[in-house]
Amino acid sequence: MARDYYEILGVERTATEVEIKKAYRKLALQYHPDKNPDDKEAAEKFREAAEAYDVLSDPDKKNQYDTYGRVMDDSMGGFSSTGSVFDDLLGDVFGDFFGTSSSRRSRNRPTKGQSIEMYQELTFEEAIFGVEKEVKVKKSENCKRCDGTGAEPGGMKTCEKCNGQGVFVQRNGIFAVQTTCPACGGSGKVIKEPCTECHGKGKHSIEKQIKVKIPAGIDDGMIMRVSGEGNAGTNGGPSGDLLLHIKVKDHKIFKRVDNDLHFTLPITVFDAILGREFEIDLIDGTKEVIKVKPGTQVGERITLKGKGVPSVKGYNVGNLYVDLNILIPTNLSKEQKEIFEKMREESKESDMFGSKLKSILEKFKEFISGNK
Ligand SMILES: [Zn+2]
Ligand SMILES: [Zn+2]
Repeated sequence: MARDYYEILGVERTATEVEIKKAYRKLALQYHPDKNPDDKEAAEKFREAAEAYDVLSDPDKKNQYDTYGRVMDDSMGGFSSTGSVFDDLLGDVFGDFFGTSSSRRSRNRPTKGQSIEMYQELTFEEAIFGVEKEVKVKKSENCKRCDGTGAEPGGMKTCEKCNGQGVFVQRNGIFAVQTTCPACGGSGKVIKEPCTECHGKGKHSIEKQIKVKIPAGIDDGMIMRVSGEGNAGTNGGPSGDLLLHIKVKDHKIFKRVDNDLHFTLPITVFDAILGREFEIDLIDGTKEVIKVKPGTQVGERITLKGKGVPSVKGYNVGNLYVDLNILIPTNLSKEQKEIFEKMREESKESDMFGSKLKSILEKFKEFISGNK
């Protein structure tokens, strides 16, 4: 993640739109490539400032950044309109200072709406088995009356300032300076009669309840895309998407690693030596008998195939791994201790540990002093 955008621009988090613009202009002038030819550091600072301004000057993006610490735009996998920053400011800042001709603006271009990012918390079981959730989304929607144009039907007229050209071109010595018409924002048209429904904004803020079907097997940290449930597009562009960041709560007993479930079953040393069957509750509520075999060693695990989590892609199911935690008694009576003393003596003479374990003991014998 890049540095904090507010820090880059050197403004407080409470800075106003005007303060943000002013701070950006100052930096942009200072680090502009025309003023700092072949200066990589300046170029990077210029780029950083542009990126920060792109986000902080756009209410939708700023809101997202303030809430989530980043802005997600899927149409370009990054910042949608770093170019437009130059368009916006090249015209009125660099046009005058450097004679830079800005790239042709494309404000009329249909643009996909901003995505909206939200968190959705799920219980451990909901993530495994899937669930349907009602999500309350605050988003913008195109005004139905004006279809997003902001004008009453037939209420647009040609911009008088630029005669419908959208730009001004000035010859300034050897430079041709193109500036965007501030009156129409480059579209060449202005609203004659504002839409009575949205007062010229073209969009409404709405709160919508959306039913989202969350698939079985989804995991913590995954992002679910709900197409078309983000903010409204501009100039007839499609709506953005809703991106749900999935957070899964921990389970008291089970742990999940990808599609496998793990849990640790505590058994006594006697159960480990003699063997025992346990009936356990699986995550789906069914019961399963686990067989701890006689002579179970520390670190052994029992695998229940296919008793884990279904893959979110739907083609396989993980396993359930039961790790055995063998509990050794710590609080023996005198008589009980004597029994173990006796067993220890007997173990020297008998084949209690079997050949496999005996060879392990033999192998380590010479490294361990006091093992008489
Ligand atoms: Zn309207
Ligand atoms: Zn104009």
